[in-house]
Amino acid sequence: MRMAKKTLKDVDFAGKRAFVRVDFNVPLQDGVIGDDTRIRAALPTIQAILAAGGSVICASHLGRPKGQIVESLRMGPVARRLQDLLGPAVKVLAAPSVDCELSKGAAKGLQAGHVLLLENLRFHPGETANEPALAQCFADMADVFVQDAFGTCHRAHASTAGTPALLKPAVAGLLLEKEIAAFDMAFGSPKRPVVAVVGGAKVSDKIVVLESLLDKVDTVLIGGGMAYTFLAAAGEAIGSSLCEEDRFAVARSIVDKAKTKGVKLLLPVDHLVADAFAPDAKTQIVEGALPEGWMGLDIGPKTTEIYANELRQAATVVWNGPMGVFEMEAFSHGTSAIAKVLADSDCISVVGGGDSVAAIKKNQVEDQITHISTGGGAFLEMLEGKELPGISALDS
Ligand code: ADP
Ligand code: MG
Repeated sequence: MRMAKKTLKDVDFAGKRAFVRVDFNVPLQDGVIGDDTRIRAALPTIQAILAAGGSVICASHLGRPKGQIVESLRMGPVARRLQDLLGPAVKVLAAPSVDCELSKGAAKGLQAGHVLLLENLRFHPGETANEPALAQCFADMADVFVQDAFGTCHRAHASTAGTPALLKPAVAGLLLEKEIAAFDMAFGSPKRPVVAVVGGAKVSDKIVVLESLLDKVDTVLIGGGMAYTFLAAAGEAIGSSLCEEDRFAVARSIVDKAKTKGVKLLLPVDHLVADAFAPDAKTQIVEGALPEGWMGLDIGPKTTEIYANELRQAATVVWNGPMGVFEMEAFSHGTSAIAKVLADSDCISVVGGGDSVAAIKKNQVEDQITHISTGGGAFLEMLEGKELPGISALDS
């Protein structure tokens, strides 16, 4: 839609040092990496630069050290895993110190084919503050900037916004290129009809997302807890379901806006209700008005069928937010059904949001989704139509 950005293809890396902002924010317990998916995901970009004759300076944050050195959040275990994954043909060096000037020395001595992993970026107070001196120090290390950490692109930090403003060329790595391409597919000149599935707990979390989607899609299917604020705002009985009374006006205005724009906006017509917010609560299916004292925790079978039908006719689907409290087995059926319909469909499917991606993984259909976004907050901000500072800093 808005942002054709330069990528690895646009740069000759021979003899060049690349500062690559990666996402190595892996789960770490007592120095042991629980899941190295994020390190593996960064390998293609690193390997492509090395293969082109360049050297790589990898930079990431890890956990939340809040601008101080936290021993348990040092990058040592990540450096060792990166070395294992890249194999003996590639030399991985760990930065000698947190100190940027010292690391700069190591970076400048880097030979082609070598990788230097900097210490945890968030040990520097200047990282989240986007301090110019720190951004300059990072920029001085390299000849090229590569952004491959989509999950932090919505943050204007030194390594995401400051450095690429100073270090040119500044381009997208392979992972970020995929994220951008997925958004272009869904919102650039998408195959229509485009259907958005929006769920989750609260309307207030997703107002801007919904408003922005109305400008782009043909159909919006609403599920999850937020559906009840819409239903209540329309005068329907919702029992003790989640409800944000202070959002009635905005819910009504979204419904009106959809009408004006000719966007089909659907709300659940039946519900799986429970007498308590608990995995072993008493449940029943109800159509229309919810009985007093019962709360809707999943879309009902009729709604599931109506939504599935819309999805089967869609050429492009964007999904954010589960249809029910999918963490509890009893209330996971609507969400699982949506995941399976998407998996079986030939449509272009783009899914993002921490919980929605978890639902896709739980149903083991990752391989059948066109694109699963790696960024929770960043994905939502993209859906909101915002320019992400980490992307807008890159060369067009
Ligand atoms: P994502 O992480 O994909 O962006 P959200 O964080 O917006 O999704 O929403 C996920 C949360 O919404 C889940 O914790 C889920 O239990 C909750 N949720 C879904 N449906 C309901 C409901 N009917 N009532 C209460 N909470 C719900
Ligand atoms: Mg979430």
